[in-house]
Amino acid sequence: MIHGKKILITGGTGQVARPVAEALAAGNEVWCLGRFADRDARKALAELGIRTHVWDMGDDAPLDDLPRDFTHVLHSAVHRGDGTDFDDTVRINTTGTARLMRHCAGAEAFLYVSSGVVYNRADRTHRYRETDPLGGQAPWLPTYPIAKISTEGLVRGLAAALGLPTTIARLNVAYGPHGHGGLPMILFRRMAGGLPCAVPREGQNLCNLLHTDDVVRQTPLLWDVASVPATVVNWGGDEEVGITDLLRHMGALTGIEPKLDPGDLSRETAVFDHTRRLELIGRCEVGWRAGVARTLAHHAPDLVRQAPDPAAQDPGPDLHASDLVQEHR
Ligand code: NDP
Repeated sequence: MIHGKKILITGGTGQVARPVAEALAAGNEVWCLGRFADRDARKALAELGIRTHVWDMGDDAPLDDLPRDFTHVLHSAVHRGDGTDFDDTVRINTTGTARLMRHCAGAEAFLYVSSGVVYNRADRTHRYRETDPLGGQAPWLPTYPIAKISTEGLVRGLAAALGLPTTIARLNVAYGPHGHGGLPMILFRRMAGGLPCAVPREGQNLCNLLHTDDVVRQTPLLWDVASVPATVVNWGGDEEVGITDLLRHMGALTGIEPKLDPGDLSRETAVFDHTRRLELIGRCEVGWRAGVARTLAHHAPDLVRQAPDPAAQDPGPDLHASDLVQEHR
């Protein structure tokens, strides 16, 4: 783990970056930038010794009153748009990011959290490589891919122009106890509410679930591989997880039978080719079945059976019954 650094984090109230900010606060000077509409989150960050600074990516206001001597930057904030505001979405994400990079041009490493949504995902089973065609579509939020693709371009350009060592990490699906819990918990809330979960007519949607414990551990590793020109790397869990398998796993852990709704409305996900990530930062540590069990035990302690169905557990060593019981409390 990284120590004694001065770290700037955007999106620090979000699902991905908040656990990183909290973990790094122990041995580093951590600053979080954001609008902090969630005052409780700001207070909780401050209580950990994290400095918070109000910043809106869409504002023209300069960052003059913010120190410049940050050593590491994690840029996780995103304006996903409302699905129609393409112009605003591009402006807010790119201009905010440009100001941030210029301000922190002397940093040792800048990490931009991008997304697998940038890929032109035509084939559900293809393992997307960093060099594959871009141009992702997201019918559920058409502005989102544009936000990420345009900002990736901006980040690559400024990394080169400023000589700022940079990593662009294309995140797959992050989940864990923090925030709303990520995609598994979004789906579980539907299950628990008796609502149907959309799945494809045939086969499954696949993804690489990445537990926030691995996000926290791998963030400094991604800083270590920052370079000029920018390093671009897929960032997902080692395992390929079928969304239908995920629903059934959560069903086994809770006794709540998922209502599968086969049709054309399922939100497509994608799986990554991990070659570059494995070369650069290595494997993940949290297996998805164990990670989902722990996440469920945190978010829905009253609904998780004390002893999950053994058939639904990982064969590997990463399912710790004691963790389950501890988080359950
Ligand atoms: P969240 O939706 O949980 O949080 C979004 C964050 O962005 C908040 O901290 C928010 O802070 C900040 N933010 C939004 N708009 C602005 C703005 N105008 N100015 C400043 N800050 C802003 O996001 P996640 O944590 O889920 O995602 C983090 C990153 O990871 C994003 O870049 C996303 O694209 C990417 N990603 C996430 C995935 C996932 O599974 N979660 C999957 C793939 C990619 P505040 O409201 O305080 O301003």
